[in-house]
Amino acid sequence: MSRLKTFSIGGIHPSGRKELTEEKKLERMPVPEILHIPVNQHIGAPCVPLVKVGDRILKNQIIAKTENGLPSSVHSPISGEVIEIKEMIFPGKRKIHVIIVKNDKQYEKYEGTEIENELTNDFNELLKIVENAGIIGMGGAGFPTHVKLNPPKDKPVDLFIINAAECEPYLNADYRAMIEFPEKLMNGIKFILDTTPMKKVIIGIESNKPLAIKTLKEINNDSRIDIVPVKTRYPQGAEKQLIYALSKRTVPIRKLPFEVGVIVQNVGTVLAIYDAAKMNKPLIERILTVSGKGIKEPKNIIAAIGTPIKDIIEYCGGLNDNTEYAVNGGPMMGKAFDNFELPITKTTSGLLFLTDEECEESEESACIRCSKCLLVCPMGLNPTTLMDVSKKRIYELMDDVLDCIECGSCTYVCPSNRDLADNIIKGKERYNKYLKRSKKNG
Ligand code: SF4
Ligand code: SF4
Repeated sequence: MSRLKTFSIGGIHPSGRKELTEEKKLERMPVPEILHIPVNQHIGAPCVPLVKVGDRILKNQIIAKTENGLPSSVHSPISGEVIEIKEMIFPGKRKIHVIIVKNDKQYEKYEGTEIENELTNDFNELLKIVENAGIIGMGGAGFPTHVKLNPPKDKPVDLFIINAAECEPYLNADYRAMIEFPEKLMNGIKFILDTTPMKKVIIGIESNKPLAIKTLKEINNDSRIDIVPVKTRYPQGAEKQLIYALSKRTVPIRKLPFEVGVIVQNVGTVLAIYDAAKMNKPLIERILTVSGKGIKEPKNIIAAIGTPIKDIIEYCGGLNDNTEYAVNGGPMMGKAFDNFELPITKTTSGLLFLTDEECEESEESACIRCSKCLLVCPMGLNPTTLMDVSKKRIYELMDDVLDCIECGSCTYVCPSNRDLADNIIKGKERYNKYLKRSKKNG
């Protein structure tokens, strides 16, 4: 038997904890009375609201947009009235303007949207469709997809990788999408292949999802598409790690995948591209997993972007009394939060409500120089040193923090319970600000 493909260094094997929602079919959650739609959901300059308090808006209408830096736009998932535009504080202390819309339950669509179209075969038209639909990478980073699909002309891309690893514990959103919408996913992939210069696709799925691998293999009749199981090993779904596992190409430090002829998109993003091209439907909803022993009815749901988390909790039966932590995303890379008025965004892959039993908290103690953090770092970094220089703000020695992919593996293995990843991530933010200041001051 051939060995499963995987990345070269580091990695861990956390408990998958997928069983809570693995078998749960996707449910479409009814859209609540009020949506909180953030104007900034992508990497880059925030979108500017195009609507004001009192305006009546339609489903699929663009309500915020930016042309600065990385262009993007935000659409309304409902028709209704804008009742407030205010700032909310998101995890990481990010202040973001939120457009608050009262649902009129009419779902009156913006003209020309959600109507079946002839699929284009023109690359530039595809880019325009994807940009107009406000599609961004739905795996977490939120990079505008039309920019990612269009690398510089001198960087030819031949390989398209679908990131279907879903290596974060608990999360099953991509898994459910693969087994419930396999034809749509494959049609989306073929459409992208037919319309872009890319000639070959590899779908990388962790080996702990045999049903997804089987389902896609059974319907695949296109020789350009390979479905490849990859080893269940965290962080298998990190972009550079997956590219290496599937193609043996190494993306140079601080470079993007197109440098080695690759573009990576995740399952949800491909489905969104297909919806936009086939139905002229913008990105107004997403699939996410709601899990953890703290939530009474763990589920996989399709919810409108901007749905407040408190409504999702209610839809999932409420919280158990012993819930201790709420996490936006997976347990390894997600961000803790405690404001349930916050909404889900285009990049919310999961909401976890965890009990004490699920996340043991122990006192931090001194480093015992065991080297475990060093051995598991998939980027070959020295997390102990990076944490120390980050805490002390020794900028001259902090350059390596930029290579951290924020996977959390170092924190996970540390027997002294040192929060290495969190400190390194904070160090990275500070170091980036320091670099900007230094550039400005010449
Ligand atoms: S969080 Fe950063 S330093 Fe820690 S293991 Fe992951 S890449 Fe390495
Ligand atoms: S894993 Fe923890 S205790 Fe071991 S070397 Fe790293 S920081 Fe020190």
